[in-house]
Amino acid sequence: MTQKNDIENLISLFSKLPGLGQRSARRIVLHLLQEPEIRLHNLIEMLSITKSKIVTCEECYNLDIISPCNICSDHSRDQSVITIVESVADLWAMERAKIFDGTYHILGGALSASKNMLPNDLRLPKLIERCETHNIKEVILATNATIEGQTTAFFIMEQLKDLDLYISRIASGIPIGGELDYIDEGTLTAAMNSRKQFDN
Ligand SMILES: [Zn+2]
Repeated sequence: MTQKNDIENLISLFSKLPGLGQRSARRIVLHLLQEPEIRLHNLIEMLSITKSKIVTCEECYNLDIISPCNICSDHSRDQSVITIVESVADLWAMERAKIFDGTYHILGGALSASKNMLPNDLRLPKLIERCETHNIKEVILATNATIEGQTTAFFIMEQLKDLDLYISRIASGIPIGGELDYIDEGTLTAAMNSRKQFDN
């Protein structure tokens, strides 16, 4: 077996990134290597800065360079409302759409037997603590419109039902099976605006 050379290893590393395959990985590596002193240098610099600064928010589990993150510490936002999402990508989708000016809570996934995501894997203790101690008035369940996302939304509602909260679920606009990160901003806006009170 021949040893892969370093350039091939780099291409292989890039090709494993989400959304990239072998062909785009090769194009990126070639682009970087054509002006390594500038392109590769800048990339290394930015990766290194990001690695040294990035932290997980102690409140909502967002990724940022401060904790509590810029959203949790922004008092021009409505700190009494929490939108619950599965992932940081979903939070970014909401922020891109500029449809919500409250705070978030990132679950880290959805309940799933196949992915072995169990209730204890969701970041619920912190969510309940926030609801109890931060004067939270409304919780919006914005988990994906997949079976896992729906199951998770019902499960969380059960966990929160004894607290004095208005609980809503994002509604129409999100296609069944749809993941927030892939939905255009108009559709996401419609879904947020037409959210309904969530109950059994
Ligand atoms: Zn935060």
